[in-house]
Amino acid sequence: MTTTIVLASNNKGKIAEFNQLLSPLGYDVKPQGEYQVEEAVEDGLTFIENAILKARNACAQTGLPALADDSGLEVDFLNGAPGIYSARFAGEHGNNLANNQLLLEKLAGVPTLERSARFHCVLAYMRHKDDPTPIVVHGSWEGRILEDLEGEAGFGYDPVFFVPACGCSAASLPKEIKNAISHRAQALTQLLTHLTSKASF
Ligand code: IMP
Repeated sequence: MTTTIVLASNNKGKIAEFNQLLSPLGYDVKPQGEYQVEEAVEDGLTFIENAILKARNACAQTGLPALADDSGLEVDFLNGAPGIYSARFAGEHGNNLANNQLLLEKLAGVPTLERSARFHCVLAYMRHKDDPTPIVVHGSWEGRILEDLEGEAGFGYDPVFFVPACGCSAASLPKEIKNAISHRAQALTQLLTHLTSKASF
């Protein structure tokens, strides 16, 4: 039997990534746009709250189980900023270049040892809108902020995020490598463990 899950996103890359992992388990992941879901108001103050808000909104509007993700960058020197505001750090939603430039400006002159940072990804899976025990998993990816942009691949803050384990920026990593070790990959692995354990049925 196939279980349809609504993904609280219309990002084609994300739909493909989730389907690749979840279809062998009998799940069919559909974008919420296919059900004319109106986007949730993301007024939570944590990645966890926002992921749950988005999943609950998609469940409520479709009557189906829903999955949502919320992710961003935490920089220690900036007390955790840009955090949940990562997509619009410099004001305009999704302006990656402006976001990276602002981040580099705020860290200008800060020594290497104080430039620690990490990406976070929270996934929330809810069986129905009143589900009192959503599955919530959290992956994180440690690194530090470079002093300049490096690399062409990826998106968002990848060109300024140095991955010590690889010795280069996230934007210099081949897609397959990033997709195997990133915060999102780690959260997805945990989600799979939950969905395949009996306790989640
Ligand atoms: P979203 O949760 O996918 O909307 O991501 C929020 C924001 O966090 C993005 O717009 C990016 O700025 C940042 N972000 C999340 N994941 C990544 C990543 O893997 N690389 C670079 N930036 C990321």
